[in-house]
Amino acid sequence: MTQTPVQPGIMDIALYVSGESVLAGRRDVLKLSSNENPLGCSPAATQAFRAASGDLHRYPCTDHASLRRAIGEVHGLDPDRIICGVGSDEVLQFVVQAYAGPGDEVITTEHGFSMYPILARMVGATPVTVPEVARRVDVDAILAAVTDRTRVVFVANPANPTGTMLTQAELLRLAEGLPPSVLFVHDGAYTEFAEGFDGGASLVDRFPNVVMTRTFSKIHGLGGLRIGWGYAARSVIDVLNRVRQPFNLSNAQMAAAEAAIRDHDFTRRCAELNARLRAEMREALTGMGIACDESFANFVLARFDSPATAEAADRALREDGILVRRVAGYGLPEALRITVGDQAGVARVLDCLRRFMAGRVAA
Ligand SMILES: *Cc1c(COP(=O)(O)O)cnc(C)c1O
Repeated sequence: MTQTPVQPGIMDIALYVSGESVLAGRRDVLKLSSNENPLGCSPAATQAFRAASGDLHRYPCTDHASLRRAIGEVHGLDPDRIICGVGSDEVLQFVVQAYAGPGDEVITTEHGFSMYPILARMVGATPVTVPEVARRVDVDAILAAVTDRTRVVFVANPANPTGTMLTQAELLRLAEGLPPSVLFVHDGAYTEFAEGFDGGASLVDRFPNVVMTRTFSKIHGLGGLRIGWGYAARSVIDVLNRVRQPFNLSNAQMAAAEAAIRDHDFTRRCAELNARLRAEMREALTGMGIACDESFANFVLARFDSPATAEAADRALREDGILVRRVAGYGLPEALRITVGDQAGVARVLDCLRRFMAGRVAA
């Protein structure tokens, strides 16, 4: 029997591993493995989603005009330079599809988001991973890795799973240092948790080769609905729209997203709660002897003295019905990524880890 040959790169893709959501035999599972919003989504978004259920036989509009207008108003951006996708993952995919192919290189960083190499391989391009310094993206390492085959650089800022962030000066140095032929994708999935940060919008306005991506999955609590967007120069958006399917977003997705982004009170409440509990977590963890960098996102990275200890801590958390994210696949085997939950969730995690660490000292 003959087999149809698969396109180059496809079989090198390691399937994405998502955060776990069930623990056998437990009903009180606390899921802190996927950076979801502990407050859910805006009630206005739920209501808009319900209202859209009456028109399921209608094709959605293809230009996302109303949602783009809402995003533009809320963030002070030109709606004509916005593109919407099925999660920001799809926008990232548009970028590689349109700008990279076999023989081209896509730069990602040591602890970078695992979707980036997957996307590069999807189009037959070669992912090039550059080192970070103490869990922070290293601008010089990226610039040193650029060759004439480089087409795309992916940086999440704040980064996942480290939670660290580049300074404005470092960002500027990266954008200025990259040749105009290289697209710099600034993934701003966690922008709203980094107080006062514009997610890279001002960079897009200065550099025609910078693309900012954003999502409704994190602060807006709509991970289950799959909506994201990108902002770039008009010429780049024009290219990306050519690889976008005309009906990629349903009316229900667009209606819920628009309601969510216009609910400023809910968004602010989520950001404030996250900032307070994130600080509380970091202080408590370091107090217990668990290392923890300052995080600018909605999770913290708890670092133990060894991979074995991280594994044991993960087991202890599971025994208490708590799911967090092991990040060995991100080159961080000694760490666990823990989403900041609500007050009760944070208390439950800290209580468990306190008992775990006390048990270790006693042992
Ligand atoms: C969660 C996350 C996203 C968002 O993905 P969606 O497809 O919008 O749900 C993008 N980038 C990073 C780094 C993330 O952690």
